[in-house]
Amino acid sequence: MYDKNNIFAKILRGEIPCKKIYESANVLAFYDVNPQKKIHALVIPKGEYMDLDDLNSKASAEEMVELIKAITIVAKKIGISDLVKGGGYRALVNVGENGGQEVPHLHFHIFGGEKIGKMVS
Ligand code: AMP
Repeated sequence: MYDKNNIFAKILRGEIPCKKIYESANVLAFYDVNPQKKIHALVIPKGEYMDLDDLNSKASAEEMVELIKAITIVAKKIGISDLVKGGGYRALVNVGENGGQEVPHLHFHIFGGEKIGKMVS
């Protein structure tokens, strides 16, 4: 069951501040509070979805498309998407305990600003 008290739900309700990058009807993007790379952003749906499975079974096609599109919009906005200018980034989602998910609200991590390194460590 979705935990309405998770930290991203609080950010979405405006109870906790965030460094906002982008917002649309169904999506919010902000900087990670504990960056793992030079640039580390998070893209989250506004809907109450715990993970990709939850999104798949409950979200509208519009919400899904908006979420995926937001990744490229955010990457462009924070200046890491132009491959000619040395950009490039990694977008990833952790799912569940084995996937290393800590916050139980679906989120895409976007890492960039430097070489991201090995796929999995
Ligand atoms: P995950 O391990 O995939 O669940 O990632 C959760 C991410 O949320 C971590 O990278 C945390 O640093 C980040 N995080 C936790 N609290 C906040 C917050 N208040 N604002 C921004 N990012 C946060």
